[in-house]
Amino acid sequence: MMKIAFIGLGNMGSPMATNLVKAGHAVRVFDLVEDAIQALESAGATRADSAAEAAAGVDAIVSMLPAGKHVRTLYLGDENQPGLLDALEGSPLIIDASTIEPNVAKEVAAEALARGVVYLDAPVSGGVGGAQAGTLTFIVGGTRDGFERARPILDDMGKNIFHAGDNGLGQVAKLCNNMLLAILMSGTAEALALGVKNGLDPAVLSEIMQQSSGGNWALNVYNPWPGVMEKAPASNDYQGGFLTDLMIKDLGLAWELALDTKATVPMGSQARNLYTLHASQGNGRLDFSSIQWLYRGEEAP
Ligand code: NAD
Repeated sequence: MMKIAFIGLGNMGSPMATNLVKAGHAVRVFDLVEDAIQALESAGATRADSAAEAAAGVDAIVSMLPAGKHVRTLYLGDENQPGLLDALEGSPLIIDASTIEPNVAKEVAAEALARGVVYLDAPVSGGVGGAQAGTLTFIVGGTRDGFERARPILDDMGKNIFHAGDNGLGQVAKLCNNMLLAILMSGTAEALALGVKNGLDPAVLSEIMQQSSGGNWALNVYNPWPGVMEKAPASNDYQGGFLTDLMIKDLGLAWELALDTKATVPMGSQARNLYTLHASQGNGRLDFSSIQWLYRGEEAP
């Protein structure tokens, strides 16, 4: 049993923190939203009224925040507030599971190290369903020692735990994965729309392509055409799952990374444009597989 602070109790953080409670850890939680704290209190966590209070005397801190600016402000502070790194007692392990810029992860890691604290970037794949089921994939950047220290905690929230390399590389791997996912999802939607327009049944075409060389995760387990897969968000009016807006955030991070490092990402750029167009038509809060509607030329439900 460890003492763990959990900061950021949104769609992902809330079930992740709940799984740490279920695993028997003493979890102290903080979020800016009172209802989110109360829900975790009901699940057995202890409330804190600030991030510093949550982190006092713990063995580890897990954060799950929307974007890099939130992570940076939490740990390093800004003109209005001191950073958590300057308020720490002892040297708790820091595990940030948010998807953020690799450079921000490296910056916070260096500041943590200067204070004798180990920071890991540990973005996740698997979505809200994976967070609830405790089957997330963690993609960790940081020292091997830090990774080994984190593993028992990550095991209580996830199934596949990878060490990608040094700080920042967890984020790089995550961004590569999500860029590929966006390309595969838009390509899958494109192929389905072409087939259906020419008389094919979407379920029949999906089965053929699954067993053929076009098979891929988006087609095989997350089919974007409504009714083809009962449990996919497409069959539930594109509710739940992974928001189009969050996919656009990740594609933007991948694009900035490519610019910074002079990498060429024509397919990723195209996917980013398609998703941005789709969101501009009012679909940002739908699951990202709703890109299917862009190809069908109809409005999403
Ligand atoms: P969310 O917006 O639902 O939750 C973020 C939470 O952080 C909110 O409850 C917010 O109040 C809280 N917060 C913000 N600033 C805070 C601060 N300074 N102190 C305390 N709490 C603060 O977002 P989410 O869907 O849980 O995603 C979190 C991260 O996980 C993002 O980086 C996202 O890209 C990534 N991610 C999300 C999914 C998904 O399917 N939702 C999947 C993989 C990765």
